[in-house]
Amino acid sequence: MSNLSVPERKQEAFFLKISNLLNKPDLDNHSEALANILMANYQILNGEAIRAREYMSVAEPLVKTVDQPMLQNQYDYVNIFVLRSEGDLVTALEESERLYNEVKDKWGLNKLGDLVLEQAYISAILSRYQESIPLLELALDYSLEANDPYLISETYNVFGILYSFLNDNQSAIMYFKKAVEVMERHPALVSNIYFYANLADSYRMNKEYEKSLELIEKARKLAIKEGDIPLRAFAHQVKARVYTNTKEYESAIEELELAKRLQEQVGEQLFGYELQTDFAYAYLKLGQIDQAEKHLDEAIDSAAKVAALDDFYLKRLRSEISAARDDFEDAYKLLQESYETYRKTFNDNLTYVSNLSREQLDQERLSFENKLLEKENQINTKYVKKYKKYSVILVVLIALMLILLVISLWLLMKYRKAARKNEEMALTDNLTDLPNRRQMFRQLEQEHEKSEDGRSVYSLIIFDIDHFKTINDRFGHRMGDKVINRLASITRHTLRQKDTIGRISGEEFLIILPDTNVKEAKQIAERLNHQFANADFSDLDDGIHLTASFGVTEYMLEDESLDMVINRADRLLYKAKSQGRNRVVSTFNDTQQES
Ligand code: GH3
Ligand code: MG
Ligand code: MG
Repeated sequence: MSNLSVPERKQEAFFLKISNLLNKPDLDNHSEALANILMANYQILNGEAIRAREYMSVAEPLVKTVDQPMLQNQYDYVNIFVLRSEGDLVTALEESERLYNEVKDKWGLNKLGDLVLEQAYISAILSRYQESIPLLELALDYSLEANDPYLISETYNVFGILYSFLNDNQSAIMYFKKAVEVMERHPALVSNIYFYANLADSYRMNKEYEKSLELIEKARKLAIKEGDIPLRAFAHQVKARVYTNTKEYESAIEELELAKRLQEQVGEQLFGYELQTDFAYAYLKLGQIDQAEKHLDEAIDSAAKVAALDDFYLKRLRSEISAARDDFEDAYKLLQESYETYRKTFNDNLTYVSNLSREQLDQERLSFENKLLEKENQINTKYVKKYKKYSVILVVLIALMLILLVISLWLLMKYRKAARKNEEMALTDNLTDLPNRRQMFRQLEQEHEKSEDGRSVYSLIIFDIDHFKTINDRFGHRMGDKVINRLASITRHTLRQKDTIGRISGEEFLIILPDTNVKEAKQIAERLNHQFANADFSDLDDGIHLTASFGVTEYMLEDESLDMVINRADRLLYKAKSQGRNRVVSTFNDTQQES
């Protein structure tokens, strides 16, 4: 029974044969173990990993009880396929190496070829291309020597898979075509309809989408006919990839959902990771970044289970997700890592496949590196654009701040100007522009303080226009104002530079004369008196004539306060009024009169 060829072991008739055997009540341990192992083999060849493991679990204790190396080898052989389907690649590879060493002198060529081919396949999935290539060549030797079309086509198929891993689509297509060719030449012996799907995926990678879709449809129909669920899943997956390449992302996701459901149905683990990356990529392209990241996380999870697969591709996807999230720093970092991983893997691989098609691989690598570089540039440009945007905002902000600063400075200046004007106004008389009463008394205080140590003497003149009411009455209040103004200007022109005149009430003025004694002050007052009396107001109105009365005094040492000086000047003015007006009365006058 163990000499049956692989296709035969895949067939329904074989299944029935084993089923019947298993139903026999008086089965010995050896037969029961073998029947379960063969049943597991049947299941795994049909892609049913979970069922296969169930039969293996029944077989395992029986194999131990029987304790026969041949049976153990048979168990180990099938276990390799089951382990691989379950995603435990490393154990599967170790087991196959161990088993090969044990059986290489005992087994027939086609079975050895099958075992070696499995090793080559697992090595390729684990990216151990160095080991995969010579194993494939060995498997091809075995298959050609055994003249087993099934094994020959399977070997070509794995060659194709290896080349598609290496992004060498031309070679992949060539080998998948060879596999298909052998299969079509021996339809009774070879029925691996995966060849169509593999070829379809290579056509897709080569951008031959029509050819690809045509073959996928063929593979899918055959898979339904054969009840091969994993192949059906794979057909949907390849279809999804075509849709992704042709930017029909929603259809791609639909196909991926179908593939996922089918994979789950049979417990297929190995390609779960691939499916998740396909999901991630389609969602990324669709702009659903959160979904993309979710699937990528799941992909990395399942990738970790089966070894570090396509590390560079996963990192590149992560990088694109980061870029879509505007996290360019992260994107750039990941892309850089992806690029390094890719280079390293590729350089390693180049060494091992050098005698095969080094030039072609070099070409492939260059084109892929270019793609990565292009991506790198894209992300860089986005990065620069983003920061350009920020710098524009920054410049605008700085400009706004400068404008604000200028406005506030301008406002401050305006405010200070207004404040100064206010202050001035508070100290100036509106009518005459002379210092007002407040300002005069301030200045007087300063002058008084200066004289208090007795080193200097100042004098004061207070004068009041005589009978000003009559001027108002005769010529009107406005004319009165003009007259007051005229008098102020006459006074200002008569006084010396250092003297200050201020208007302290309606038509009453105060003059401060620094460093001036009363004698000088009296002379000045008399000059003013004379000028007023003779002033010409005819330009204002006819018949205006006026005089004023003056009180003049100086600071004396006995003056304890400023008030004493002012009051004295006031009293002297009053005296001038009472003595008949139009005159100057001063302390100087007094002394002279007394002496
Ligand atoms: P006397 O000789 O006693 O000083 O007589 P007088 O008429 O000048 O009387 P007094 O000094 O008591 O009154 C001042 C008058 O001056 C009262 C008011 O009508 C007038 N006057 C006061 N301030 C102003 C002013 O700003 N403009 C005008 N046009 N008239 C003023
Ligand atoms: Mg008066
Ligand atoms: Mg008066």
